[in-house]
Amino acid sequence: MTFATSPTPPLDTAEVVVVGSLNMDLVVRTPRHPVPGETLLGHGFATTPGGKGANQAVAAARLGAATAMVGCLGDDTHGRALRDNLSQQGICHQAVRTSAAGATGVAMIQVDDASQNSIVVIPGSNAELTPDDVDAAEALLASAKLVVCQLEVPLETVCRALERARAHGATTLLNAAPAMALPGELLALVDWLVVNESEAEALSGCPVADPDQAARAIARLQALGCRRVLITLGAQGVVAGLESGLHHAPARPVAAVDTTGAGDTFVGAFAAALARGAEVATALQEGQAAAAIAVTRPGAQAAIPHRHELPPVTP
Ligand code: ATP
Repeated sequence: MTFATSPTPPLDTAEVVVVGSLNMDLVVRTPRHPVPGETLLGHGFATTPGGKGANQAVAAARLGAATAMVGCLGDDTHGRALRDNLSQQGICHQAVRTSAAGATGVAMIQVDDASQNSIVVIPGSNAELTPDDVDAAEALLASAKLVVCQLEVPLETVCRALERARAHGATTLLNAAPAMALPGELLALVDWLVVNESEAEALSGCPVADPDQAARAIARLQALGCRRVLITLGAQGVVAGLESGLHHAPARPVAAVDTTGAGDTFVGAFAAALARGAEVATALQEGQAAAAIAVTRPGAQAAIPHRHELPPVTP
């Protein structure tokens, strides 16, 4: 893939601000996974922009929200390519710092012929995103309708972003991925908690494999202080725990070819719709419609659709 240099977008405000990770994904295709000590000839290599934060920012931007990122890149080739990628997507990156010390985060992704993957993530400069970086982006956070975080940057930074977003009256969304236990004080800062099955299990302690089990996990998470919880269940759709009660929204039936980044597409599209002022039911439909399109295409960011590709919302 080529990375053309684009000028910084002239944005100093944003509807959706994503505080999170940017990685370069180094994807190796092999016939099978090598055993320890083995050298294997692979048959493909690609370098693609990734990281949950950047993926969700791209989804929000393609789905129509003025979007900005707060993050940290290394002063290296990957860092420059990832910044150019944000520019090309129309995402404001003035609050993405370049660290002189750390290398840009990378994900080494090995995919075999059965589409099974194994992934090693080196957080690199993502681990250097500090609460001070959040404070430096105060004006941006003050302009946001929605602030979106994940857990690929330090927890104290996530906590500061949620606190500052709350202080400015923005809606907060935490995609609690990757899976880990979280302190109650952090959950209390979250308006929308979005998790997949394994993340829901890690937070609630309940097994989550189907909509009924998701409903039980939501009850547990709401008892911990999360007001609105969405559990995504892949092809089984989303179970939403809202003030109005529990709702199961089935996924759109599609022939999936690559589900990488389905969750990130859902989160970004859902956030864009909420930031536009859409009803929750509409935002859920748009999130699922965008994710259903994404799983029919290969890749993560490359697969994320634009808003004009979505089917009309049904009442
Ligand atoms: P990833 O980690 O790959 O980004 P995830 O585990 O966080 O994904 P999922 O629960 O797999 O997220 O998927 C998110 C949403 O994407 C689902 O709620 C659903 O709307 C949509 N989706 C995922 N897989 C499919 C599928 N096979 N068919 C239709 N929609 C799907």
